[in-house]
Amino acid sequence: MKARGLAVLKAKELLQPYEFERRELRPNDVAIDVAYTGICHSDIHQAREEWGPSIFPMVPGHEIAGTVSAIGSQVSKFAVGDRIGVGVYIDSCRTCENCLGGLSQYCLNGMTATYNGMERDGTTIANGGYSNIFVVDSDYAVHIPKNLPLQAVAPLLCAGITLYSPLRKWGTKTGMKVGIMGLGGLGHMGVKFAKAMGAEVTVFSHSPSKEKDALAMGAHHFVCTTDITVLHSMRKKFDLIINAVSAELDINEYLKLLKIDSTLVIVGIPGKPYAVEAGVMLDGRRNLAGSMIGAVSELQEMMDFCGEHGIVSDVEVINADYANEAYERTIKSDVKYRFVIDATSF
Ligand code: NAP
Ligand code: ZN
Ligand code: ZN
Repeated sequence: MKARGLAVLKAKELLQPYEFERRELRPNDVAIDVAYTGICHSDIHQAREEWGPSIFPMVPGHEIAGTVSAIGSQVSKFAVGDRIGVGVYIDSCRTCENCLGGLSQYCLNGMTATYNGMERDGTTIANGGYSNIFVVDSDYAVHIPKNLPLQAVAPLLCAGITLYSPLRKWGTKTGMKVGIMGLGGLGHMGVKFAKAMGAEVTVFSHSPSKEKDALAMGAHHFVCTTDITVLHSMRKKFDLIINAVSAELDINEYLKLLKIDSTLVIVGIPGKPYAVEAGVMLDGRRNLAGSMIGAVSELQEMMDFCGEHGIVSDVEVINADYANEAYERTIKSDVKYRFVIDATSF
């Protein structure tokens, strides 16, 4: 099938219009008319090889929302016309301990990333969601609730699940004091989810202009971190902190905010190591953890939760020809709060 989209042909080059082929439907595949596709900071990190070598040509995009246009002969999960979403991975081995245990994002044989990786045949480059059509195995796609607008749903497929999963895993509930570091695409979803789960939510942000928005999203407190000493008075007060910052920072100042036995979860991936002070970890038996997206089943659970609570992303809808500028603005933390490309513009 002929597809139109955007690709980066070589590391650090700009996105440009790109035509390519998608596979014909296999028995368990669905074809998708993409409606909107989100711009995740991970797209930028990988297009610019900030995490190490990438695979080119790269069609980025792993926040894909659209409708089913055709189904393979064995598909029972979806029908033509259904609203459908695809996130950060499109396959896994399905046989390892983690796949069988419902945690296929941590597949021991490596999950198949939606882009910047090879399909499971080992030879076909996986082309991501900056494109007008998509083809995916239906086991790795989710249903989108009818009451949610597709453009504001697209970012849930990565930004949403990446915050929902650790908030659930670390037992977010009424009365817990939860901190969210970085009010970007990921962070703003964390605020909405933590609030819906009953927590008292504090945003740590280096952008003072975001205070009003943070409070409107449901945060109880906004802390501007341009002067890091403001954190001193908050030490040992938090049950859970999630670090959704894309850049390097002094993680010790945030670890010090944790109560005894509490956890700071890293989801941001700056590409350089954090310098963790042993003494800070010891004092209060603190935990430092990481979390990567969420399994397909949890993605569906999150979608249903969003449908019930009316939770979506705050988005700026753009056309494909604005994507390079959107990258620059995302790097400057100048987006409210996720760029989403209208797929009719590819
Ligand atoms: P984003 O929209 O660009 O948000 C990142 C936020 O980090 C910014 O809005 C800003 O928040 C803060 N920030 C940026 N530069 C900073 C600096 N120099 N100093 C302090 N704070 C800074 O990015 P995103 O799409 O949410 O992604 C965030 C990170 O998570 C990226 O590294 C991405 O690759 C990673 N990620 C991880 C997973 C996973 O599975 N773990 C999934 C998706 C993405 P303020 O303006 O509020 O300070
Ligand atoms: Zn992402
Ligand atoms: Zn596996």
